[in-house]
Amino acid sequence: MDASILLVGGDDFLATLLVRIRNLVSCTVEVAPSPNEAMPLIQAQQPDLVILQGNQTVSLELCRQIKEQTRLAWIYCLLLDLPTSKLAEAWQDDFWIMKCRAEALENGADAYLWLPQSDANGAALPKDTVMQQDRLLSAQIASGLRMVKNHRELMRTNDILSAIALSDPLTELNNRRALDWELPRQVQNSRSRSEQMSVLMLDVDYFKNINDTYGHPIGDRALQLISGRLRHNLRFRDTLFRYGGEEFVILLSGTDAQEALLVGRRLCRLIGDQPFAVNDDLNLEMTISAGVASLNDSDDSKGASLLQRADQNLLRAKAAGRNRVIGGQEGLKDKG
Ligand code: GH3
Ligand code: MG
Ligand code: MG
Repeated sequence: MDASILLVGGDDFLATLLVRIRNLVSCTVEVAPSPNEAMPLIQAQQPDLVILQGNQTVSLELCRQIKEQTRLAWIYCLLLDLPTSKLAEAWQDDFWIMKCRAEALENGADAYLWLPQSDANGAALPKDTVMQQDRLLSAQIASGLRMVKNHRELMRTNDILSAIALSDPLTELNNRRALDWELPRQVQNSRSRSEQMSVLMLDVDYFKNINDTYGHPIGDRALQLISGRLRHNLRFRDTLFRYGGEEFVILLSGTDAQEALLVGRRLCRLIGDQPFAVNDDLNLEMTISAGVASLNDSDDSKGASLLQRADQNLLRAKAAGRNRVIGGQEGLKDKG
């Protein structure tokens, strides 16, 4: 993907800079129509680098806003001054540049450059000076783009590692760690929106017999097939996890106890009604048992007590003969 640069500043600044930058670097260069309109553009397009007109309150403010937002803070901000003439005395220049650079960095800029357009008398700068200015500008841009590229690569690696850390390798479902992360989040969401939520805990019946009879590889394949069938038959608001072994948890957001029981019953049928073709020679009949629990006011914010009630109801479903769902503290019961 092409690197992208956004220029932000007054008309004169943009007119001078746009041509110069386009000659120096080969990436997409865009211009914000006005500093005030830059922020929505930055949020929507997330350019790699923003070059802002230095020594302007509105630029410093924009720079601070970019760096305050975690989502945008990685964008490289270069504050650039293109004064039309050098100041009369060198020491005045030095003092002024130091002040502007300090202000830029204090407001979050990653770099500051001062590139006068003419000498103290308003005469054109020597060719060599202009060449060195261009060299410095293009080196500073390249350095910024390098940093952003590294950041983007790190983020990509981070996404891959998160996906690995949160997924179960056998079934490719969300794993237990993902559940520990997601359950408290859903409890909090349900409470803040005053919505119902329920949890289904499922366990494959007599699964050990499959391993004992056909061996663990067939057991593994059976778990993959069950996982696939569950995954493809969920509602969009349901989230499926492999809790461990042959046990699964489904978070049912926006779902009350009665509806959760119906979902559990449907899933029991889904598994029990059709055998699983483990290979060309073997069709396995399997059933599951399920426990349901719904969030109530006295549940803890992590969802531990909610999960525990679902687990207790699962044990009741096992004790009651398997291939069934039991839900609610009230002992709502249903045969699968
Ligand atoms: P119940 O109806 O009471 O749940 O009986 P069960 O046999 O399903 O329960 P039990 O807890 O006795 O056995 C669960 C089995 O699941 C034992 C274990 O070896 C097997 N298991 C757990 N994880 C895996 C896995 O990843 N692959 C395979 N093949 N087997 C697994
Ligand atoms: Mg079990
Ligand atoms: Mg079991």
